[in-house]
Amino acid sequence: MASESTLTDGPTTDTNRHRVFNFSPGPATLPLEVLEIAKNEFLDYRGSGMSIIESSHRSKEYDAINEEAIALTRELLGLDDRFHVIFVGGGASTQFAHVPMSFLPEGKIAAYVDTGSWSAKAIKEAKHFGSVEVVASSKESDYTFIPQPGDFTVPSDAAYLHLTTNNTIFGTQWQSLPKPTVPLVADMSSDFMSRRHPFSDFSLIYAGAQKNIGPAGATMVIIRDDFLATAKEGLPTMFDYRTHTNKKSLYNTPPVFAVYIIKLVMEWLKEHGGLSWIEAINQRKQQLVYDLIDSDSDFFRGTVRPDSRSWMNITLRLPSEELESRLITEAKAAGFAGLKGHRSVGGIRISAYNAMPTAGIEQLVRFMADFRKSA
Ligand SMILES: *Cc1c(COP(=O)(O)O)cnc(C)c1O
Repeated sequence: MASESTLTDGPTTDTNRHRVFNFSPGPATLPLEVLEIAKNEFLDYRGSGMSIIESSHRSKEYDAINEEAIALTRELLGLDDRFHVIFVGGGASTQFAHVPMSFLPEGKIAAYVDTGSWSAKAIKEAKHFGSVEVVASSKESDYTFIPQPGDFTVPSDAAYLHLTTNNTIFGTQWQSLPKPTVPLVADMSSDFMSRRHPFSDFSLIYAGAQKNIGPAGATMVIIRDDFLATAKEGLPTMFDYRTHTNKKSLYNTPPVFAVYIIKLVMEWLKEHGGLSWIEAINQRKQQLVYDLIDSDSDFFRGTVRPDSRSWMNITLRLPSEELESRLITEAKAAGFAGLKGHRSVGGIRISAYNAMPTAGIEQLVRFMADFRKSA
């Protein structure tokens, strides 16, 4: 891994010489600049004489981190103060249940679009609480496409419409979002803050941090106040979103270290130019890989319909499983880790999250083109 990219999104310093390009789907690569800051601040957080992970979550140091993480989220996404930003534990998987527990009242139905394993899990959990209508699904086609917003209808009395904006396992992503008349709820775990969206149109967004904005342990939930006002009353304290919005995620001990890293990642995004900056980089990165796939589609066999291609998780098969495992092994030896596809799909998966520098994609594409020539 020698050559340098001309782009500046991937800083190369002496300390990363032994670091590989990490294409893991999650937990995933984080910006080197962020890791360096965390390393430098780790033993003595800004003169406090202790590590942030040894500090009280009620200390002024953590309070500042929490406030800043919330403010940066609003700023980066262009949200006004109708939106509450909270950090909770339990992963996105807990939100699969927490959302319908709170927002699917008896006698109502919730509308879901089924675009992959994570959507299917969200649907399964919602059924614990009420009626679910799957308004569109690509299951019969092995989840190889995203239903187009004009091709399905959402009942006007649905409690909400739930989407998974990016399907981490199957490699598909919504390229244009529906605009339903009912509240819109999205699991954005694997493409959160990777591109611009009309975020104010969403009533609730949740995202596990470990794909695109930080380490495992924290899930960010954004809730608009008009939707929050409709949340079921009388739930156990920890299952009432108001507990967390009222106390700014400090009712109980939050995932302190994860929120700290998320704050650093958001500072990194902001300093470089925010979502329009990262969107342009992500656009270019996915283009490089799909151009390779399209240049030799007998060998590099994209698994999804072109209009539904994900910018974040790019899935492909090679002509044989033997070639696939050879590519993964040789890539690993050359410094490209984490390329094995999910066990349910097989093949190769290139996760190109925000923190994957363009240089990593350029070098991987060159490696794959050379591999093809020698195969
Ligand atoms: C990884 C992932 C999840 C599950 O996240 P956990 O934090 O492990 O619960 C849910 N949805 C999507 C889209 C994911 O990529």
